[in-house]
Amino acid sequence: MEITCPACKSAQREPVDFCTRCRYPFLGTDAERARHIGRIIEQKGVLVDVAVALKRSRYILFGIAGFTVLALVIGLLAGTADLLGAGITLMLALVFFICGLFMERQPVLCTAIPLMFYLGNMGVAYMTDPALIFRGIVLKLAIIGMLGYGIYLVLKAQQVRNRLGAD
Ligand SMILES: [Zn+2]
Repeated sequence: MEITCPACKSAQREPVDFCTRCRYPFLGTDAERARHIGRIIEQKGVLVDVAVALKRSRYILFGIAGFTVLALVIGLLAGTADLLGAGITLMLALVFFICGLFMERQPVLCTAIPLMFYLGNMGVAYMTDPALIFRGIVLKLAIIGMLGYGIYLVLKAQQVRNRLGAD
């Protein structure tokens, strides 16, 4: 006889003590079974959250790339940017843009690399002029926080997928 697991909806062959996929306790008490279902719902929620977070990370990277190019064009037009600096800046913007493009395929790498550059850039700015770091500090912290949270969710979702099996 086959029975459907109430938590993960996989088919289980009776008699069954624990779901082979999600470890649902078929013979557990009401409270144990309810707690398990709650946990599965929460884990599925993580998978939804991670999709939303990655989309947000992608927009942040596109935003930074776009803003950087815009600032560069303005700098070049105003004659305040030198060509070497402009080249490096343009390459950085390209890295952010490419990482945004590949966000869904390589989420950890495509967030970690821009985050590293972003923090490095802040470090350089701090060494040049410590006051610079406080300019737009709320936005900077929000960007770092959102990118970091995206990585955290991806790692958490990987654990969930390993536990639930890929689907
Ligand atoms: Zn199950």
